Amino acid sequence: MKKIIIGNWKMNKTVHETRDFIQKFDIFYSKNLGKIKDNLDFAIAPSFTSLALISTSKIDKLKVAAQNLSQFDSGAFTGEISAKMLQDLAVNYVIIGHSERREIFKEIGEDLTNKILQAQKYNLIPVFCVGESLSEFEANETEKVIIGQINEVKSVLNFEKAIIAYEPIWAIGTGKTATAQIAEQVCKLIKNNFGKNIRVIYGGSVNSKNINELLLQKNIDGALVGKASLDPEEFVKILANI
Ligand code: PEP
Repeated sequence: MKKIIIGNWKMNKTVHETRDFIQKFDIFYSKNLGKIKDNLDFAIAPSFTSLALISTSKIDKLKVAAQNLSQFDSGAFTGEISAKMLQDLAVNYVIIGHSERREIFKEIGEDLTNKILQAQKYNLIPVFCVGESLSEFEANETEKVIIGQINEVKSVLNFEKAIIAYEPIWAIGTGKTATAQIAEQVCKLIKNNFGKNIRVIYGGSVNSKNINELLLQKNIDGALVGKASLDPEEFVKILANI
């Protein structure tokens, strides 16, 4: 399966900083072109204010992801950004169900199903995130949690056109990566239960040093990268080291 790397910038980088990133990324990317596999997909998920910049950047092959979208179609929903607005900016992917949205913004099953429906209606590819907490991991509940989170949305999710991101909460932003073996086990579990052809990626403290071992695993089709995607040189190294 074609590999994909998605950088999730979270609430970082102004428009000016994004412009600076694009300039630097372009330089490092051009220098490393020979090392980056032709069939690798890659995207950046900036904040909403920088989407247009990433989407119009001249960088060959760079795709655009949004970090969130509204569960509503249009109308009186102050502060919301709709799937149609993202489609209009030529956004390709949208992250749904990131653990920060689940935990801090209390997004639950119904919000997530409605967001998936909106994304699919406007041809955005959902990057649906699942992951267990440290206490669930320690209590050996990973399998139950992951299957449960996917079951909540499976009636609406078009698995063939979606990406599932396994992101153990204990590995996000903590510097602790799940071992390649743990990540592989869970990605395999997802494919065994929901379909062998689903694109399943891993996220949690991925960087240029651990990317290759993770992506050598049979069932890991890419990575969702937080902190390490903010640095243009490091992000290019991640693409080049696969
Ligand atoms: C994320 O937030 O999706 C993530 C994987 O972050 P980090 O790479 O910083 O752990």
